[in-house]
Amino acid sequence: MAPFLAHFVFWTLALVVCVAAYMYAVSTRRRVTCRSCGERVQMEHDTVASCPSCGAPLR
Ligand SMILES: [Zn+2]
Repeated sequence: MAPFLAHFVFWTLALVVCVAAYMYAVSTRRRVTCRSCGERVQMEHDTVASCPSCGAPLR
């Protein structure tokens, strides 16, 4: 395999891994709106189970 092609494949794979990690981070971090008080809550890895403002369950 030509050296430049090996570099191309390596950097393409590195880019794909970075994009996949970014997409995963974005998908796990999402905002939900409390159905009780309308407060927007930042969800990090689904650790927030209830609204910090009024205490209503978010799911
Ligand atoms: Zn609330």
